[in-house]
Amino acid sequence: MERTFVLAKPDAVQRGLIGEIIKRLEQRGLKLVAAKFLQVSTDLAEQHYAIHKGKPFYEGLIRYICSAPVMAMVWEGPQAVTAVRQTMGATRPTEAAPGTIRHDFGLEVGRNLTHASDSPENAQAEISLWFKPEEMVDWKQSNETWISGNN
Ligand code: UDP
Repeated sequence: MERTFVLAKPDAVQRGLIGEIIKRLEQRGLKLVAAKFLQVSTDLAEQHYAIHKGKPFYEGLIRYICSAPVMAMVWEGPQAVTAVRQTMGATRPTEAAPGTIRHDFGLEVGRNLTHASDSPENAQAEISLWFKPEEMVDWKQSNETWISGNN
């Protein structure tokens, strides 16, 4: 099983889309293993987006992530990183496929509603940046064998 880190960004929170995002990930068959609602500090935003430091959109990105609360989550499932990125859609909402969150609710790259880790390695790093080990909930979902299994 793989875990991935997901953020409902400030625009998703302000637009009342937290439930919609969670609903789509639940419907996909993924399992929620950690969640918290928080106001992101500049320090945390800068650590999370360190890879983008120096890029033209960096300052605006940090302001955006700190502009209202976010919902930070960890989701688990087979190939969770790939599955969640697929459900989110391409970075630019106008390039995201219909049926993805970014397509269905977004228009601009600067307000693209969600973040999801782009590799298992980055997922691990992001999970440990945002969550303490004791904040992760190990639990068995009753429908697990109906979502993943090799028969
Ligand atoms: N971003 C932006 N302008 C750009 C590229 C990216 O505002 O031209 C923002 C956008 O919110 C994006 C985030 O920076 O989600 C991180 O960019 P990345 O390329 O890592 O995309 P993601 O992994 O979020 O799809």
